[in-house]
Amino acid sequence: MRNPFYRLILIISFLINFCFPSGGSDGITAAEIIEHIRYLSSDHLKGRLPGTSGSKKAIRYIEKEWKASGVIPAGEKGYQQSFEFTSGISLSGYNRFKINETRKTFRVKQNFMPLGFSGTGLFNASVVFAGYGFGVEDSVAWNDYDDIDVAGKWALIFRGSPDGSQPHSAFADHMPLRKKYMTARDHNAAGVLFVNPYDDNDLEELLPLRFSSSASAGTIPAIHISQEIAQQLLPQNTTLKDLQEKLDNNRSSISFDLNVSISATIGLRTKKSRGTNILGFIPGDGSSDEIIIIGAHMDHLGYGGKGSGSLQPDKNAIHNGADDNASGIAGLIELAEKLANNPKPLKRDVLFVAFDAEEKGLLGSKHFVNNSVINLENVAAMLNMDMIGRLKDSSLTVG
Ligand SMILES: [Zn+2]
Repeated sequence: MRNPFYRLILIISFLINFCFPSGGSDGITAAEIIEHIRYLSSDHLKGRLPGTSGSKKAIRYIEKEWKASGVIPAGEKGYQQSFEFTSGISLSGYNRFKINETRKTFRVKQNFMPLGFSGTGLFNASVVFAGYGFGVEDSVAWNDYDDIDVAGKWALIFRGSPDGSQPHSAFADHMPLRKKYMTARDHNAAGVLFVNPYDDNDLEELLPLRFSSSASAGTIPAIHISQEIAQQLLPQNTTLKDLQEKLDNNRSSISFDLNVSISATIGLRTKKSRGTNILGFIPGDGSSDEIIIIGAHMDHLGYGGKGSGSLQPDKNAIHNGADDNASGIAGLIELAEKLANNPKPLKRDVLFVAFDAEEKGLLGSKHFVNNSVINLENVAAMLNMDMIGRLKDSSLTVG
C-alpha cells in the first residue's frame, strides 16, 4: 500500500460495496483514477479557481467523461447549474477623508483605507475615543461604551487589545475588527475608525482592502486610519501613546468626546464571478422516491494569496489541489460512470454533484440547496468526498 492511489481505489471500492452492494468494483482502475487526478491537478488548470479558464477546463473534463458514459445531465443547462457570487472588492470613485475643523484632507491608501466590509457613501459626524472598542462581559468585564454616548458619532478605537494581538489573551475573541465593528454598530455609532496601537510593529500600517465572503457588507463605514491622522483628532497634549498606556496599565475603559468632526466618502465596488456546479443523474428502478446525493467539490485556490485560505498566503503560485479535491472528483467521475453502466439499476435515484466555490465558503452547495433541481425532502443520504487521496495513519474518516 505504498502508492496512495491504491488506497484511493480501495476507498472507492469500499464506497461502492458499502452503498451499492449490487454493484461490484470492476471497471474502476488505478490508471483511470490517476489520469483524472493528473489532469485536474495539472498546471494547465491553474488551481481550478471558480470562474477562471482553468475551472472551465475542469468542467469540460467532467462533462466529457460523463457524457461518454451515459450519465444523464441534471443541471439547468446540460450538466451545469451556474450561479453568481462576490469574489473580490476594489476601491471605486472618490474616497475622501477630511477633518472638518482643520479642513485637512487625506489620501486613500496612504493615510486611510476602508475595510472590505465597510458601508459606502458620504458620512459626516463628530468623533469619540472609545478605547479598544470592547463590549466584553465574560471572563473579564470591559465596556468602552459604558461612559460615552457614541450614537450618531464616529468611534475611534485601537486595534488589538491590552495584551497586543496575542492569540491567548482573555480578549482574543473580542479583537477581530469585525467584532469591534459590530459592537460599535450595536451602540448606534455612525462609523468606526480603527488605528494601530503605537507599540505593535507586527501590524500592517494600513490594512489592504480585502474581501471576506463570510462577512457581508455593513451599513456604517469602517476605516483604518494612520496613526498620524488619529493623532490629529486628539486634544492638544494628548498622544496615542498616553491613551494606550493608560488603557493597558489601568485595564479599564477611558472614553471621551474628541470635539472634532470628520466627513468621509467611501466608494467600494464588488467583483462578481460565476461558479458552476456539475450535476449528473443515474435513475433508480422506479420502486423508490428516494435519492442519494454523492458530491465532491471541484474548485481549489487558484494562485492562492492573502485571504485565499492557502497555507502559505504570502506566496503566489499555482495551488494544484491534487488531494483537495481532484481526488474526490476522480472518485465522483468514476462512481457515476460505474453506476451508469450498472446492468441492474439501483432501487434509489443517485444524483452526482461536483460543487464549485467550496473554498470560497461552500457557495456551490449553498446555491444547490437553495435552488435545488430535485425535491430535497426525498434525499435519503448525502455522501461527500473531500480529500480521499491521502490517508493519515491509514484511517478513513466517515462523518
Ligand atoms: Zn476540500
